[in-house]
Amino acid sequence: MPVIELRHVEKHFGDLHVLRDINLKVSRGEVLVVIGPSGSGKSTMCRTINRLETIDSGEILIEGKPLPAEGRELAAMRAELGMVFQSFNLFAHKTILENVTLGPIDVLGMKREDAEKRAMELLARVGVAEQAAKVPAQLSGGQQQRVAIARSLAMNPKAMMFDEPTSALDPEMINEVLDVMVELARAGMTMVVVTHEMNFARRVADRVVFMADGQIVEEGAPDEFFDHPATQRARDFLDSIK
Ligand code: ADP
Ligand code: MG
Repeated sequence: MPVIELRHVEKHFGDLHVLRDINLKVSRGEVLVVIGPSGSGKSTMCRTINRLETIDSGEILIEGKPLPAEGRELAAMRAELGMVFQSFNLFAHKTILENVTLGPIDVLGMKREDAEKRAMELLARVGVAEQAAKVPAQLSGGQQQRVAIARSLAMNPKAMMFDEPTSALDPEMINEVLDVMVELARAGMTMVVVTHEMNFARRVADRVVFMADGQIVEEGAPDEFFDHPATQRARDFLDSIK
């Protein structure tokens, strides 16, 4: 059973048809990289998966179950799908440790002591344990994004979604974030990653999906896709980002 499945998903913003008949399955442990031009619907697709956006028609299933529409069940499901955005979205007035323990304490009902122990393990895993007592503004962008990843992991997600996690970072910080994502992928995390980092995609993706104008235009194994894109649109896009 796929961890995430989209069936015939349609979405409009007013007159704009932003997702067109999206069909997608993400298997357990799979790393799916989504690429495509700006405005093609990549972020909207990610956001529909944890219902930050509603859909007009179609179905979204998480481990075979339809996405709950609202309330407690929706909150529980969201907690199971980690989401890391371009902007790190940390709580500015809380320490790094508090940022990582808040969800586990408030949502999962963990004891503070246990949540802190686990948070420190995760902060160590992403290489920022020594920053635990600081507030986000005292950290570099790359460090903040690694904290955001640790915060998601603290919820024991079934899958993680990354929406251009390195686009807002200075170039020298991109790799420290990608390295954490590579480690996660190797550890077997189910991941959906929207990114323009083609080396990462080649190295880590099990499958690449190319979106344009709200549609999945092409999908395939990374080497096949990058070396022999089947459509002119994909060729044009790949040329444009070289
Ligand atoms: P991508 O992530 O591929 O750049 P997006 O999913 O962000 O694309 O956007 C797809 C299209 O939907 C764009 O034309 C964008 O302007 C539009 N869009 C995104 N969010 C909204 C919104 N909340 N309201 C209206 N239009 C939106
Ligand atoms: Mg986007």
